[in-house]
Amino acid sequence: MIKRDRQGRADVNVTAACFVGTPRRPPLLWVPAPVEVLITQAQIRDRVAELGRQIEADYHDRPLTIVAILTGSIVLLADLIREIQLPLRVAVLQASSYKGATTIAGKLSINEDFLPDVAGRDVLLLDDILDTGHTLSTLVGRMSDRGALRVRTAVLLRKIGRQQVQLEPDYCGFEIPDAFVIGYGLDFDDDYRHLPYIGVLDNG
Ligand code: 5GP
Ligand code: MG
Repeated sequence: MIKRDRQGRADVNVTAACFVGTPRRPPLLWVPAPVEVLITQAQIRDRVAELGRQIEADYHDRPLTIVAILTGSIVLLADLIREIQLPLRVAVLQASSYKGATTIAGKLSINEDFLPDVAGRDVLLLDDILDTGHTLSTLVGRMSDRGALRVRTAVLLRKIGRQQVQLEPDYCGFEIPDAFVIGYGLDFDDDYRHLPYIGVLDNG
């Protein structure tokens, strides 16, 4: 039986070791380069909740595996799965094509080492952003090759005017103009993924 205080919070034992160095959040000393906010934290929260409702409605009778594409979709994955009250498996694979530069895509490298068996399952591929479409369309093919029953796609962002491959995402958070965006999982040179909003680096 878990003991609870008057507010209903569980009486958990926090050892001193847990607090070493971080009894409180330190003042924010790290200041990012100037970033123009494109989509706020609140807008993202509301839209991700809506996407969760849609996915719930569509999969209420079909056991789902969400396959998140690392690394950019980690924040979206964490927020989205908590909006989906269904039996749900979560899996990851890694795909990368951008090597530091902001706009030039290289060859796609894929690591499926941690991907569980998806044969016979409904798969929803989750990515941060749909740009040219090469990543998602390649991975849709990979999931089908692995015997997935039905493969759908979900992205937080879709860039207008950049797509080279015909692919309609089944779920899309926001359509954005053609700019290099960072935050909420998206990086520039492996930084800025932890910003809670979507922004554009202001290099002006
Ligand atoms: P695609 O294959 O659709 O051209 O590219 C998809 C991948 O490119 C995304 O998963 C993402 O990692 C990266 N990407 C595309 N556009 C942007 C962008 O504006 N910002 C960042 N940080 N990554 C992007
Ligand atoms: Mg990516």
